[in-house]
Amino acid sequence: MKQFDAANNIQDLQYFGEFGGVNPSISDSSTYTFLSAKTMFDTFEGNTEGCYLYSRHSTPSNLYLSEALAQMEGTESANVTASGMGAITSTLLQLCKSGDHIVSSRTIYGGTYAFMKNFLPDFQVKTSFVDITDLEIVEKAITENTKVIFCETVSNPLLEIADLKSLAKIAKKHGVKLIVDNTFSPLSISPQILGADITIHSLTKFINGSSDAVAGVVCASSQFINDLKDVNSGACMLLGPTLDSLRAASILKNLRTLHLRMKKHSENALYLAQQFESDGLIVKYPGLKSHHQHELFNSMMSEEYGFGGLLTLDVKTVEKANELMELMQKENLGYLAVSLGFYKTLFSASGSSTSSEIPEAEQKTMGLSPGLIRMSVGLDHDIKRTYEKMKWCMEQVHVLEKVLS
Ligand SMILES: *Cc1c(COP(=O)(O)O)cnc(C)c1O
Repeated sequence: MKQFDAANNIQDLQYFGEFGGVNPSISDSSTYTFLSAKTMFDTFEGNTEGCYLYSRHSTPSNLYLSEALAQMEGTESANVTASGMGAITSTLLQLCKSGDHIVSSRTIYGGTYAFMKNFLPDFQVKTSFVDITDLEIVEKAITENTKVIFCETVSNPLLEIADLKSLAKIAKKHGVKLIVDNTFSPLSISPQILGADITIHSLTKFINGSSDAVAGVVCASSQFINDLKDVNSGACMLLGPTLDSLRAASILKNLRTLHLRMKKHSENALYLAQQFESDGLIVKYPGLKSHHQHELFNSMMSEEYGFGGLLTLDVKTVEKANELMELMQKENLGYLAVSLGFYKTLFSASGSSTSSEIPEAEQKTMGLSPGLIRMSVGLDHDIKRTYEKMKWCMEQVHVLEKVLS
């Protein structure tokens, strides 16, 4: 029998709503009554279970979604936030105080990079950005002040894979926390099972999957989640990145089809990646044997969900990238838009958009080409048809030369 199955864990959650509804009632209240004043006092002291105090702290709807996501990641607990950045910044500020140090992958989401690079130094928290695939460099970067190793399972936008088991070992050895942003690989990789301490998601992407909401989650031990929500010292409580209950309820409903969607995203992305590769394009996708970390991904993944919905295509110059993306949008193959996990394909040139926070010279050393197009492949019913149309677009803009037969 399989030991851990994220989709089964979500499936097995049972709700008997307040009025017998198969979906739990949405809690549309910012504050809650107490039948006795003593209970209110105890709640402020953190001594009551299951009592709601004020909705910045928690709400029934947010707890339902948090519980489902904790099940998905195999953690004791979780706390949802108003955005992925709300989850990341709260977690880092909870763990890192003045004088502390972070070792972070250098290929991470632009906002996370900007927070560590530009915002945290004013609070005397320094970050060393390293090549996370070089474990020796990671370990060497750790100092006596290091509190956190931070990485993304599949990095944005270069699709580099972090060796989570080995990183967890290094983290344990040095008594620091391994924080993993798992936004690109829900269900297919479960960081906690591989030894991570804290798993974060931007729910905005695959988990919600309909590009109509911004939200995030921190999945961790009950102890850490309680720390985040502590009335006197919790970053989530005091900084206030609270998710709205109505949104928590709608995201919970979308979460239930995540396993079906991830399979389709992965199947479509693998098909396109294989075709593009055989056409001679520079394509990167963890599911391709040519991806230098294909085997590593294989060793960590839950096979049925595949290698994810993201692939990159390097067309060398930003001008070519823009020309191609504009044509593909015109031909209704997807949208020229940032973000990912939508039912339609989304594409953007990372260097001049979501990774523009990273200075050009730094982009160069990490191998981020200005012509790199990141594609979040959609749920297209007929991916062969999509491929043929994409190929036509590539021929029109001379990314591919038309072969006369
Ligand atoms: C989008 C994203 C974030 C930020 O999430 P928001 O919901 O936009 O705040 C963080 N990490 C990764 C990998 C992302 O793709």
